[in-house]
Amino acid sequence: MSEAHVDQGLPPWQFFLLCGMLGATAVVIVATGQSIANILILSATIVAASFVGLGAYRMLAPLVSPTVASAPVVAGGRTRAALEREKTLVLRTIKELEFDFAMKKIAQADYDEMSGRLRRRAMGLIQQLDATSGYRDQIEKELASLVTTPESKASRPQDLKPSSPQDFACAACGTANDADARFCKQCGTSLRS
Ligand SMILES: [Zn+2]
Repeated sequence: MSEAHVDQGLPPWQFFLLCGMLGATAVVIVATGQSIANILILSATIVAASFVGLGAYRMLAPLVSPTVASAPVVAGGRTRAALEREKTLVLRTIKELEFDFAMKKIAQADYDEMSGRLRRRAMGLIQQLDATSGYRDQIEKELASLVTTPESKASRPQDLKPSSPQDFACAACGTANDADARFCKQCGTSLRS
């Protein structure tokens, strides 16, 4: 909850501390002529009262605060799920509409009008979904580029080859042969010794 109040000028604890100090100062001014002990007790009472005020503020602030920290995450997830559901529904409706039109259950004009409206809606939903998934895709790409496991290295094509073609060059003529070749494909010399 503290982040919600950072940008609202004076932080609440400073406000209450300031009130307490002003109150204590006022007591000192008003109570001139009283004994030192009385002034100290009054000052302490006012400072304590300001802390009680701060405590009450802390307790009540979340109830009236317009921004709850966890709210955007939940709302975002819910929005995305709702968009996915609506997209599925719209696409299904388009299919049903096309089927009905093919079965000549609806007129060309009605089909054109409804189809256009549904397709625009579907496009809007897909664009919204792309926008909300943008961050997730970006994070996944960055993670993929960061994580270089031994498996991912081994799966690269150049690493699958055990060695370069020169290692299977024929001793007699220098022709490069396959790794599993037993005889040179050029001169027939045995490659296994
Ligand atoms: Zn050879």
